[in-house]
Amino acid sequence: MYRNLLALFVTAILLGSCEARQKQAAESESLIHLKYDQQLSTSYPEVIANYQKLDSAWPEAQLLEAGLTDCGKPLHLFVISSDRQFDPMQIRKSGKRIVMINNGIHSGEPEGIEAGMLIADDILRNHDGMRKLLENTVVCIIPVYSVGGLLYQNRWHRTNQPEPLNPGYRGNAKNLDLNRDFVKLDTENARSFARLFRQWDPDIFLDTHTTNGSDHQYVITYLPAQHNSMPEKVGNYFSETMIPALYEKMRSTPYEMIPYAEYTNDSPEQGIENYVQTPRFSTGYTLLFHTFTQMIENHCYKPYVDRVKSIYLFIHKLIEFTEENGSRISEVRAESKEQVKSQKVYALDYLVDTTRYQMIEFKGFGRGTDKSPLTGEDRPVYDYSKPFTMLVPFYDHYEPAKTVTAPDYYILPQAWSEVVERLEINGIIMERLPKDTILTVEVYYIENLVWSPRPSNGHNFHESFTTRKEVQPIPYYAGDYLIRVNQETNYFIVNMLEPEGADSYFRWNFFDPCLEDREWFSPHPVLEDRIYKYLTENPEARKKLDDAIAAHPEISKNRTAQMYFVYTQCGLANKWVGRYPVARLKL
Ligand SMILES: [Zn+2]
Repeated sequence: MYRNLLALFVTAILLGSCEARQKQAAESESLIHLKYDQQLSTSYPEVIANYQKLDSAWPEAQLLEAGLTDCGKPLHLFVISSDRQFDPMQIRKSGKRIVMINNGIHSGEPEGIEAGMLIADDILRNHDGMRKLLENTVVCIIPVYSVGGLLYQNRWHRTNQPEPLNPGYRGNAKNLDLNRDFVKLDTENARSFARLFRQWDPDIFLDTHTTNGSDHQYVITYLPAQHNSMPEKVGNYFSETMIPALYEKMRSTPYEMIPYAEYTNDSPEQGIENYVQTPRFSTGYTLLFHTFTQMIENHCYKPYVDRVKSIYLFIHKLIEFTEENGSRISEVRAESKEQVKSQKVYALDYLVDTTRYQMIEFKGFGRGTDKSPLTGEDRPVYDYSKPFTMLVPFYDHYEPAKTVTAPDYYILPQAWSEVVERLEINGIIMERLPKDTILTVEVYYIENLVWSPRPSNGHNFHESFTTRKEVQPIPYYAGDYLIRVNQETNYFIVNMLEPEGADSYFRWNFFDPCLEDREWFSPHPVLEDRIYKYLTENPEARKKLDDAIAAHPEISKNRTAQMYFVYTQCGLANKWVGRYPVARLKL
């Protein structure tokens, strides 16, 4: 205690504020009292009250409101800044790094919510000298992202998870999964987050979760963004330096980490694969902006108290790494942003490289059977009396499965205002056409689309389709949008606007009206006479029809089929149907 008080006193003198000195000396005890050791998670009002307490007590902290969430309550951001600077622009100018931690995106997975409060309290009161973490780093904590989900606590949420006894709900107030909403922005939560994220531009991002996947000996599993899917310079530093350092740092704690366990064929002996997190997910979205981004997945069958402590320690190590390597982190990000401005080729999809792996230690449990109490039959169980350690392959390299060369510009007609709005929220720079004009552009036609039989996350996601390109002159109007692909946000632009991007706006239904025909075909004699006249005046169309009849003799006596062929295949029908509205322009 004496040592802590002395450290606080010295820190206070350095800060040079009499008021701060008195406050820090008087308030060095913890202000936060949680019940995670009694298997209880903190309710939403208590979480906010705790952060308000810290805000009132410490001039180095502020609890900010950053827009709304769907339940009508604000999205909060708790900022810890030793300079007492809380304007993100000024913080960036000062050369400090920003670490952002997002908690309670699935509010039934609340250990990050607890750990966020604990670490904020400990840093501010300089527990174990933790104030030194703030010399060149600003810590931003989203106390609870799914506010509506946490307001709905119920013992039987996350039914597999024995603790805590009062978990929140997976959906938000609109019953949407927030960790699928970073692109489509159906929720106020996600809109507020996107604005916040782009405004603060954090160097480091962490999203905290709990997994109920396969069983093993680890309390904490780590899911960094797949480095091959990140902008190259950021991905290289992440995989070569930062990720190994974080594993190493956690080995010095009681909570060694394992890669988030996605077993190959449900068997760890055959290996663990990382996987590419696409932009619908927090990590897949944030990586597009040169942020070192990751998730923690705590293991739901482990005691809640250990889950809270392990994620607390991970956050501590993450901030510590940032503080120790701040200059290099800033350099890598700056170089990456510059490099991407002139990058031409982008991957839209990836495949795991099964030839590249490293052998890692895996501490699992044996398997066995016991009797089902419901049926009396044998059931498969983990045998906790038979822990084992073995080396297993870890597959962490992915190759592009589909690439695209970016155009110089994408052209987005202003009619698609929902997409315009989302690009604006994400800070994409757009120019507007000064006058009506016709431009010769490259367009995609969407073909072979298979509609999903079931809605997902409030949409009918387009998983399966092909594209065909055409070059066409297309009229555009004053005010239509030109998006130049020379921005540090190019990864976002290309992934969102190429229809085959893994989570493109097309896939999430923002352009569905382009798939429907508003015109109508009926085999009336009046139309037949018009088509016959057209064939007489256009020998190329006549030949095309004759070739079709030769290839398909069954239509030789079918007037409707012939009319339909000429209407759709000889340039008469609407060119809009199936034509994806965002065109590509090359200078
Ligand atoms: Zn989760």
